[in-house]
Amino acid sequence: MDMHEKVKILVVDDLSEKLLVYRTVLEELNEELYAASSGEEALRLVLKHDFAVILLDVNMPGMDGLETASLIRKRFKSRYTPIIFVTAFLDEFRSQQGYAHGAVDYILAPIDPVILRAKVKVFVDLFRMQREVERRAAEKVLLAEEHAKRLVAEEAHRMSSFLDQASKVLSQTLELPEIMNQLAGLNVPKLAEACIVSVQPSSEAGIIHRGVWKHEGMEVFEETLCNQLLPEIKQTIASSKPMTVEEPSELKWTSIAEFPIAEVLVQPLKARGRTLGTITYLNMAESLKERNKNHTLIDELSSRAAVAIDNVLLLQHIRETDRRKDEFLAILAHELRNPLAPLRNALSILQMKEKENIAVQDASAMIGRQLTQMTRLVDDLLDVSRITSGKINLNFEAVDLHTTVMTAVEATRHHFVSRQQKLDVLFPPQRLCLKADPVRMTQIIANLLNNASKYTNPEGVITLTIRQQNQLISISVKDNGEGIPSHMQRRIFELFTQVDESVEKSHGGLGIGLTLVKRFVEMHEGDIEVYSEGTDKGSEFIVSFPYDASLQVADVPAPEMAHNTALPSKSVLVVDDNVDSADSMAMLLELMKMEVYTANNGTDALDQAEKLRPAVILLDIGMPGMNGYEVAKCIREKAWGQKTKIIALTGWGQEQDRIQSKTAGIDVHLVKPINIDQVRELITS
Ligand code: ADP
Repeated sequence: MDMHEKVKILVVDDLSEKLLVYRTVLEELNEELYAASSGEEALRLVLKHDFAVILLDVNMPGMDGLETASLIRKRFKSRYTPIIFVTAFLDEFRSQQGYAHGAVDYILAPIDPVILRAKVKVFVDLFRMQREVERRAAEKVLLAEEHAKRLVAEEAHRMSSFLDQASKVLSQTLELPEIMNQLAGLNVPKLAEACIVSVQPSSEAGIIHRGVWKHEGMEVFEETLCNQLLPEIKQTIASSKPMTVEEPSELKWTSIAEFPIAEVLVQPLKARGRTLGTITYLNMAESLKERNKNHTLIDELSSRAAVAIDNVLLLQHIRETDRRKDEFLAILAHELRNPLAPLRNALSILQMKEKENIAVQDASAMIGRQLTQMTRLVDDLLDVSRITSGKINLNFEAVDLHTTVMTAVEATRHHFVSRQQKLDVLFPPQRLCLKADPVRMTQIIANLLNNASKYTNPEGVITLTIRQQNQLISISVKDNGEGIPSHMQRRIFELFTQVDESVEKSHGGLGIGLTLVKRFVEMHEGDIEVYSEGTDKGSEFIVSFPYDASLQVADVPAPEMAHNTALPSKSVLVVDDNVDSADSMAMLLELMKMEVYTANNGTDALDQAEKLRPAVILLDIGMPGMNGYEVAKCIREKAWGQKTKIIALTGWGQEQDRIQSKTAGIDVHLVKPINIDQVRELITS
């Protein structure tokens, strides 16, 4: 109510003429006057209105004034409303204990208008004052509330922007040490004087720490402190509950006068039911009060940090498993390759010895095809593992595309023949040259041709087209076969992805061919695209490379003659720790009328070479004890060893392996499984 609002006054009397008198007397006060002619009516009015004062006639029929006053007092709303009794008999008022019934004052009848007005005015003023005080108090409360709300909002804003910033910072890196540094940095100086983040990457691993310090010079104590706090950190990790270090003053570091640490709080970092580590907050006394307000913030920050660290650890785990898988693949491919050489040799022996036997020839041809297929798979597997471990190098040179394409066609022709498919090869009018690795370029084209045949029904048609347009050379391999649904067209280039992975529909293959093709194409700064209108609508793969008009076919080097050294005799020493490999190769060479010896380790090889002085040594590189490179070096140191032709037969065909061979004095570096005709040619030439 404001100061000028009228105040309500209630007058209770059974006599209407008396009510009229009151009205006349009190009119002067200019307030709002209510009249009741009985106790009951008075009670009803009291319920509805808030009166500044009630004038109550003591002597009324029915419920008298005293009774009415008692009831008015019992009502919560009117328990403090001042009541003035009007009585003709002061004694009666006293004997009836008017005050005890709740009266604050009395007036004797007949009333004196001046006294009545004066008394009523006192209460009216009092009422007004009270209301004013209440109003001001309410205003203050409102103000205080608003202030509090504003503070809360500001705090919430401060907190959420800090946490936003924290989330941003934590998501910027996926490396563990980096994320730990960032996290510690977030806490200093806002939440602590110094902060140590400790993480235990796995339950078997040790705990690693990263600290950030507000004051220069503090970092000197990092190691000491981490060691001293280790029991608390371990306990927090075990219990998953925050803990305060009881006597931080006992920590050696805190006794340094400049940095008196008053509180150490170790907060757990929990994610997915595991405690990954802790954040340790170190605070000096003067900043404690401020920091104590930040408990919610610390809780919230640690749960976000824990999630971020958990993700990083998961990623580390995945990377590690992936690395181990890659390593396994590399070893697997390498190991799978070794038995292929003796198998290929044994097959050649069979074919030579049983020339007349048609059944043996048919069976050998079949084994030969399967061996080729298996060799291709193992080679692909080896390439994948080399690519994933970044160990692949290309040997770029000017390449005649015509020759490369024809080599790829020759290598895959048997597929088209056996499936009675038609292969059309369309060359442009001019011969094109490309800067490329000839082996890998052939592999790219052969792979696409191989797939085109594999995923096209017998009697299908495959077209290989070479075009030169603008600054691009493109090679398209198009078939009218199975086609590729659009949702798979991007995915088929991913490792181990096949459109139909069911075993029944398997075409044989590992789902790595196109991954290799794509990587090799990219390594040639080229591009690969696939077009297919869907299942059974055929597919077209187009690879394109930048066209360099300055390259001419004349730039293409003539095929290198492996060597020209004259042979003093036809004796050959075969060195391989795999006895089957050495023996089968020896048998093959004997069939070719050569004089063959074998050795199964480096020392034996040197001894035999010393005695025999062979014209040619077929030398395995990867042998336990003395390896092939060492054997070659020793031989080259001897006078008689200068003329010996050394041919390395190895599983390793990388550029650095070839360089190593050359350095060791090896003449020819052949990668297993080798082609026996090539070996024969090398020996006899
Ligand atoms: P693989 O042939 O060993 O399965 P690739 O990486 O060479 O692996 O091919 C991946 C997948 O792409 C194949 O499994 C096949 O589903 C699909 N694909 C490749 N070439 C063709 C093609 N010419 N026609 C239809 N599908 C193809």
